[in-house]
Amino acid sequence: MGNSPLIILYGLTAAAANVLGGLLVSSRRLGQTALRYLIALGAGFMLAAVFLKIIPESVELWRGEALTPMLWLLGGYLLIQFFEHTIAPHFHFGEETHEEAMLAQHAALVGVGALLIHAFFDGVSIAVASLVNTQLGVLIFIAILLHKLPEGFTVASMMLAAKRSSRSALLAAFAIGLATLAGVTLVLLFQNVAVYSRPLSYYVLPLSAGVTLYVAASDLIPEVNKREGGIVTSFIVFAGVALLYLTELLLEALHLGH
Ligand SMILES: [Zn+2]
Ligand SMILES: [Zn+2]
Repeated sequence: MGNSPLIILYGLTAAAANVLGGLLVSSRRLGQTALRYLIALGAGFMLAAVFLKIIPESVELWRGEALTPMLWLLGGYLLIQFFEHTIAPHFHFGEETHEEAMLAQHAALVGVGALLIHAFFDGVSIAVASLVNTQLGVLIFIAILLHKLPEGFTVASMMLAAKRSSRSALLAAFAIGLATLAGVTLVLLFQNVAVYSRPLSYYVLPLSAGVTLYVAASDLIPEVNKREGGIVTSFIVFAGVALLYLTELLLEALHLGH
């Protein structure tokens, strides 16, 4: 497909944001407040993207068979519940400061592993959305990008809480970026594969929406709600929803619609 270079550029940008997040945690350049606001903005944007863009698009792809994409959506959601909270003993988004939890039974490494799978699907979401529809691709790219910096921050702080060096913290952020790129690449490689005479994207779009829903509603929103000063942060979630709408208007104005 002609837009593969653009999709790869999306993946590289998202991966770079992961690494930047890792750099920021080691150098302590980003305040907790700024991080929380970014998480809140990303959560709102992602929720709006899932409910208003990806789910309707998936249901439309499956015309008359609305249950099938919904099953894939639920599957994507449960997949991340499994990796982040069934296999991993201790996982939450945002800065890791619970050293006692991280020092126990290689919790940090399992946590990094869970985040690798989640990041892989971030890449899958960006690529599959772009293949289905250009405008959807831009919106999902922005939705994912907004949480990539906090994600790099999260993974690097997990390593630091486990008393590992800042070099391995940065390496972990780099690995998360690579996993994102792997997701993008795999979708591009298998874009012409059909399963039961339907393009792979029919299945992968709702599956990745389930993952994105999990990240927004069950990774990011709990971080937003966790600490004091919640009113401003909570309003930023709504700002994230508004930002999706504004971005869409901008794309229409630039004739990047459908
Ligand atoms: Zn913790
Ligand atoms: Zn992510």
